[in-house]
Amino acid sequence: SADSLDPVVVEPVREFLRTPKQHLIGGRWVDSASGERFDTVDPATGRVLTSIAKGGAEDVDRAVRAAREAFEGEWSRWTPAQRQRLLYRVSEVIRDRATEFAQLESLDNGKSVAVAEGVDVLWSAELFAYYAGWATKIEGRTIDISVPWVPGGSWHAYTLREPVGVCGAIVPWNFPLVMACFKIPAALACGNTVVLKPAEQTPLTALLLGEVLSEAGLPDGVFNVVTGYGEAGAALAAHDDVDKIAFTGSTEVGKLIVDAAKGNLKKVSLELGGKSPQVVYADADLDTAIPGTASGFLFNHGQTCTAGTRLLVENSIFDEFTAGVAEVARGAKIGPGLDPTTDIGPLVSAEQLARVTGYLDQGLADGARALSGGKRHGDNGFYVEPTVLVDVKDDFSVYREEIFGPVVVATPFDAEEGVRPAANDTPYGLAASIWTRDISKAHRTAREINAGTVWINCHNAFDCAMPFGGYKQSGWGRELGEAAIDLYTQTKAVNVAL
Ligand code: NAD
Repeated sequence: SADSLDPVVVEPVREFLRTPKQHLIGGRWVDSASGERFDTVDPATGRVLTSIAKGGAEDVDRAVRAAREAFEGEWSRWTPAQRQRLLYRVSEVIRDRATEFAQLESLDNGKSVAVAEGVDVLWSAELFAYYAGWATKIEGRTIDISVPWVPGGSWHAYTLREPVGVCGAIVPWNFPLVMACFKIPAALACGNTVVLKPAEQTPLTALLLGEVLSEAGLPDGVFNVVTGYGEAGAALAAHDDVDKIAFTGSTEVGKLIVDAAKGNLKKVSLELGGKSPQVVYADADLDTAIPGTASGFLFNHGQTCTAGTRLLVENSIFDEFTAGVAEVARGAKIGPGLDPTTDIGPLVSAEQLARVTGYLDQGLADGARALSGGKRHGDNGFYVEPTVLVDVKDDFSVYREEIFGPVVVATPFDAEEGVRPAANDTPYGLAASIWTRDISKAHRTAREINAGTVWINCHNAFDCAMPFGGYKQSGWGRELGEAAIDLYTQTKAVNVAL
């Protein structure tokens, strides 16, 4: 409970946790129609943080109706400049309340509070500021046309960019606030309304964001939050009055979303899993590449969709390089997220702990060798040792499947054969990094890898302005940048006979 929290936890967070949490529907905080609830726990201790309303189909339906009413109401008359001002104000409030957001995220997810503040909260504020700017820059075109079968006709043809309507957003637990902010500011900038279903493991910052948006003056019903499990997400994805669904999560659930969306053919965008390669050439600057690739798979304890979990190292430097990465992994400080010196916090839940250690046990039984880690850390909290696996074959589950923990598999490649077959040997295509001092080789390899994002001499270097999404089974569509404006608008062509 709020009273047993670490002394560093600030009073507004304690106050927030003291009250049982409700859904935000039509501008009001309400319980589930069923009255059902569940607990959200602190993964560093296993203790209950607070009680959460457990939403189902009826709650989703109420939220969608509120969002539809809001879409057709006052909000539709807001000017782009009004939307811009509101979104910018929200970005400032998130910055002002960064400690609160960061502590809540750290408590709910387990991530280090330094990462929560410096990455999750800062980036979320930046996303609101970035899409505030877009609100006033969404433009149609005029098109010079001649209808071929009307000789001598004279026309004035142009396009309008209109909002899509009611948008459902379903997000995972690894970056709870940021994943919501990949969607909400862009959707609002374009004039849509939103129903958000946060992950059941980490609903808290979505609810705080709901408070902030309401206080900033967003009309009732423009932003709604329904908390709950997958059944609430499924109801949202299937709802006939939802015009678009934006999903971030596993590839498995992404496929269910596609099925569920078929009823009314709502638009679907998907950001799914990954098994991203980090390609290290023998001519890489090892002083940068060793810590860089280590953080490429350890960041957020490996619970990152873009984690560089397949380390492909040119064979002439394989032993030296993997020994270096293992040393960095062994040196990472494991501890609770609220300790600012923590590098590796607990995994988000007991289920994730079981899943990740299950993969490790299977990999070692298959014949992999751990240069560092290889098992759970301690008996309390959901901690896993940062693990570098070698002697891995391409049919091992640790090589093929997304583990979502602080685990990398390292395999050598031969420069003569090239890296393309190994890098692309996966159903995923989310991201990749390339480490070399040879500029031509770097750009050539970037073209060879089938991935939505390629980093050169860095990993996980994102920006609000860079489009983000997956090739192959890592997703549909691109979020961030101008690409998100395409997701949240539809184009209307208008032609006038003059
Ligand atoms: P998940 O797919 O199990 O859950 C994600 C969300 O979907 C949760 O809110 C969950 O409640 C909801 N959900 C579950 N079943 C549903 C259903 N049948 N219909 C609708 N919604 C449903 O994923 P997770 O375990 O929470 O997150 C980890 C996964 O997310 C990893 O695979 C990771 O790669 C992926 N991820 C991808 C990105 C990206 O941008 N590509 C970013 C972060 C995480």
